[in-house]
Amino acid sequence: MQEIILIKNGELALKGLNRATFESVLVKNIKRRLHDLGRFVITRSQSTITIEPTDEGFDVDEAVDRLGRVFGIAAFVRACKTEKSMDAILKTACDYLAGDLSGIRAFKVESKRSDKTFPLTSPEISREVGGALLTQYPHLRVDVHHPEKTVTVEVREHAAFIHCDQIKGAGGMPVGTGGKAMLLISGGIDSPVAGWMMAKRGIVLDAVHFASPPYTSPQSEQKVHDLLGQVARYSGDIGLYTVPFTEIQEQIRDNCPEALFTLVMRRFMMRIAERIARRESCAALVTGESVGQVASQTMLALGCTDAVATLPVFRPLIGMDKDEIIIRARHIETFDISIRPYEDCCTVFTPRHPRTRPSLSLVAAAEQKLDVEALVSRAAENAKFELIRND
Ligand code: ATP
Ligand code: MG
Repeated sequence: MQEIILIKNGELALKGLNRATFESVLVKNIKRRLHDLGRFVITRSQSTITIEPTDEGFDVDEAVDRLGRVFGIAAFVRACKTEKSMDAILKTACDYLAGDLSGIRAFKVESKRSDKTFPLTSPEISREVGGALLTQYPHLRVDVHHPEKTVTVEVREHAAFIHCDQIKGAGGMPVGTGGKAMLLISGGIDSPVAGWMMAKRGIVLDAVHFASPPYTSPQSEQKVHDLLGQVARYSGDIGLYTVPFTEIQEQIRDNCPEALFTLVMRRFMMRIAERIARRESCAALVTGESVGQVASQTMLALGCTDAVATLPVFRPLIGMDKDEIIIRARHIETFDISIRPYEDCCTVFTPRHPRTRPSLSLVAAAEQKLDVEALVSRAAENAKFELIRND
């Protein structure tokens, strides 16, 4: 029996003229994700992408696991490929579906016949396959209204495919169809989720992390690596820029009013991230901020942060509650890494009474004593680059 994978690429079907481009990016991404599992052939036709292993050892289970993290796939199925004759179809259905049908009672068969020269119509195919399954597995009965499983037979141009359950895909758009953005990543719960959400919309990620040794530890940098490693399983490789931030934080501590520490720091992060983003051709910045979550994320505070950025700043979590964010963090398996207890630079010089309703003029005045341009360009130049690979 030859097992293959059929991909149904949902939202892409809506994209009109762009569809061909989107599909070809998706195919490229799939090839990259599966290349080390053995040889296989990918073909596209009738809005289905078919992955057909040509290697005995091709690990279909692992392929299915990885495909569940490829954006642009709405749903996919494992299927058995067979010759286009009723004899072959009936035999394959009985053999291949044994496991799927053993634990259930009610099923139905649906058939799709894109090859109109096939001698039986779709209802006839369904009837024959249903009959064969009932004979082979007498515990079953047909229930077309409330089946526990639906068996699908697809008769296509070159072969017939038989399968049961659809597997839900990661959805979204293929990474690489939406341009590139720079994610500001802390070691917290929110920013990895924010990156994942943008990748889901087809955007390639670079990332910037601000580290303040010796106030922050090597473990907190490791945590960022591990978090991006998890996000990269969905987004593909991520270029990480680690920026030395100690000097800037000390200067802020020594020269600015305490109530504005975090906000001034946040503005430096934006400026530096933007500098690197422009250098690396990123078209936007991404943060994990959500309105009202902490003092530096009130609407007015976010306005003060935005004022130093000229690139668009995307905040995909802006309207989400923490518990909603945590559900996603668990889903993408970043949560357990995020809650490791290491200091982030944000927690280093936290003001006791942060200003929650800052004005732009107040914040700008607080930065008067700092040589902003020199600090920003030095930090951006000294950023250390590493590529975080997908597996
Ligand atoms: P998170 O869980 O993302 O850390 P948080 O609730 O701790 O969020 P803050 O610490 O206020 O929020 O940070 C807000 C946003 O600023 C983060 O989501 C991230 O995008 C960015 N940020 C914070 N600290 C850093 C850092 N050390 N390096 C890069 N970006 C950072
Ligand atoms: Mg944080």
